[in-house]
Formats: sequence, structure tokens, C-alpha cells
Amino acid sequence: MATIYLDHQATTPMDPAVVEAMNVAATDCFANPSSPHAAGIRAFREVERARGAVARLIGAARTEIYFTSGATEGNNLAIKGVVRSESRRHVVTTAVEHKSVLDTCRSLRSAGHEVTVLPVDAEGRVGARQVADALRPDTALVSVMLANNEISTVQPVADIAAVTRAAGVPLHCDATQGVGSLPVDVRALGVDLLTFSGHKIYGPKGIGVLYVSNGLSDRAPLVPLLHGGGQERGLRAGTVNTAAVIGLGAAVGVLAACRDEEAVRLAGLRARFLAELAELVPYTLNSGTGPGFLPHAVNLSFEGVDAQHLLLEATDIAVSTGSACNSSAQEPSHVLTAIGLSPERIRGSVRIGFGRFTTEEDVSRAARRLAVTVGTRALRTAGA
Ligand code: PMP
Repeated sequence: MATIYLDHQATTPMDPAVVEAMNVAATDCFANPSSPHAAGIRAFREVERARGAVARLIGAARTEIYFTSGATEGNNLAIKGVVRSESRRHVVTTAVEHKSVLDTCRSLRSAGHEVTVLPVDAEGRVGARQVADALRPDTALVSVMLANNEISTVQPVADIAAVTRAAGVPLHCDATQGVGSLPVDVRALGVDLLTFSGHKIYGPKGIGVLYVSNGLSDRAPLVPLLHGGGQERGLRAGTVNTAAVIGLGAAVGVLAACRDEEAVRLAGLRARFLAELAELVPYTLNSGTGPGFLPHAVNLSFEGVDAQHLLLEATDIAVSTGSACNSSAQEPSHVLTAIGLSPERIRGSVRIGFGRFTTEEDVSRAARRLAVTVGTRALRTAGA
């Protein structure tokens, strides 16, 4: 039986419109978009069309959009690029950021910078007041994600931006998980830098976006990580990945057309899944399902169950324990730890994310399959 894919925070399948656009791009648009001949100019125009679509999606100007290889690179470039562009040496972030933010900050710390990692409340949220209290005269940057990849918590980014703006400190937002389900407008959010990735929005892997406000670029241009041919207005050297950029443009087009409607449908699927699961097996929610959380995902724990074993047993469902980027590390999720969950509850935690091609039938089958698997004695950890 086909796998029921419910791991849309780890990655999403490509939308058929994306596959189609990339196929055409791979054959018709292979020329280097920096080449001055007609074929190069055609590729350049397609890249710029995609840049325009991305800019419109997030309310930015086209000149504020830089293509990267993904959110990991975008986060590295945003954080190191700002911090290295100025003499202030302090960075503020939160305990629930993705590793590509936390480890970037850690590397800055090893290089002599100071980093404040703010704790979060039981829902995984940081307050604007906490950010205000953490700011110092030497703060170079604040980095706060839009929505969490494990527990779906949406951060009060606009409130935080009001604080950072008043203090004249740039604000970076990793919007990788939020941009697929929430309306994102960089001016309304008030951020100076924003990152996301193609493969979380039904686009290709290996392509991402870094938004840098023109205001910030004019004041203090970011220091690039990659030097070379001067592509992406000198911020990110390397031949532009034309087919992936065009695929991203197509993904953004589909997203803009269906996001709000999809968010409502996915919230409905999640409610159905949770209700059906509750009929079959007890569980505890580790994430919220109301306003302030992403609509399509949930994190829950089964008592006395080792979720790693659960995943191995339930081979026809693709779900995750904690962050996929972490799962080889076998250490308890830093996010679930930060919201105060016990090691036992973390061990039994499963992250489930519904997506564009998930059906009601998938949801019911997944609930039944999980319940049956949880019921098998082999999965019980202690004393059973
Ligand atoms: N930030 C967040 C919140 C993420 O969920 C991820 C992917 N798990 C990343 C950054 C890294 O994205 P990429 O795979 O494009 O490097």
C-alpha cells in the first residue's frame, strides 16, 4: 500500500505545476542567465519573472530578493552577513530556532561574539518584552522565526519588530515554516531580513530566498559568504540555478492562489485526525491547534511509547519524531526540551503535518494505523 506522507514540515512533494515549469526550463532555458546572448537573456528574463513572483508574495521589491541554495544558507548569510558588516558584537535569538540559526549563532560565539538565547513559554513563544529586555547598545541583530518546525508556534514577529525598530537593531525572521500557510508581508511584519526555502512550499530542493530590505542594504550592506562572479548583485556569487528558480516561481504562483483556502482545509483535516485518533488511543498534545499555531501540523505524545520504534513499525506512514534535520543525532529535541517536556514525553512524541495532497481517507487511515501500532506491546518502553 502506498505510503501516507504526513511529514510536510520536513519537506513537501513538488506541485505538478512546478515539475512542468522545471521540465520546460531544463530544456528551453539552460543558458547562463548572466550571458549576454539571446539565450542568456531569455533565461535572465525567466529568473527575473520568478523574482518578481517571490517579491509580490511577501510584499517586497524585486531588488530586495536574493536567491540562495535554501533556508540554511539564507539564515547563515543573513546572520553572519549582518554581524560581520558592523562593529556591534551581540546577537539575540530564541531557544526554539532551527539549528541553522542556533548553530550559526554558536559559530559566532566561538568567534568572539556574544549571543543571548531567549527562553520560551510552555507554548514555545517568546515575548516582545523579553526581546526589549535583552537588547544592548552593542546588539547587532535579533533573529526570531515566524513559525516553529516542530510545534508550529507562530511568534509575535510584528510586536518584536516594533521593539527592534525603535532600538535601530535589524530583525531577521526565518519564515521557512510559516510562508506556506500564513500571509507574509515583510512591511507589515516590519522585518529587515527574511528567509525561506523552495522545498517547504511544494517547490524544488536546493533553492531558497533571502529578503534584505533596501533600507538595510543602503545603511550597512551584508558581507557575502561566497565570493566570485558577482551574481545576485554581489551578495551570493555562483551561477544562478535557473531551473530551480523557475520552479520556485511556479510554486509561489500556486501558493498565492490557494494558500488561504488550503489553510482552512488542512485545519479541518487535522481536527478530523485528532478526533478519530482520540476514539482509538489516548495521546497528549504537545502543540496548540488554535490561533497562534500553524494550521496544518500537530505534535503529540503517546505515553509509554518509544516514537522511534513507532516510526519503524508503521512503515506505511511517513511522520517524524522532532526535527528531521536532527533525527540522526538521537538527542532529545531542543524545542520540546525548551517548552519543558519531560524526557519520557519527548521520547513518545510524533510530529504530523498534513499537506496539499493529503485526503480525508489518508487522515482516517493514518489515525487507525498509528493507533494499532501504538497498541502493540513491542513498542512499550518500560515495564509492559
Ligand atoms: N528553518 C526552518 C524553520 C526549517 O524548518 C528548515 C528545514 N527543516 C530550515 C530552516 C532549513 O531549510 P533548508 O532545508 O532549505 O536548508
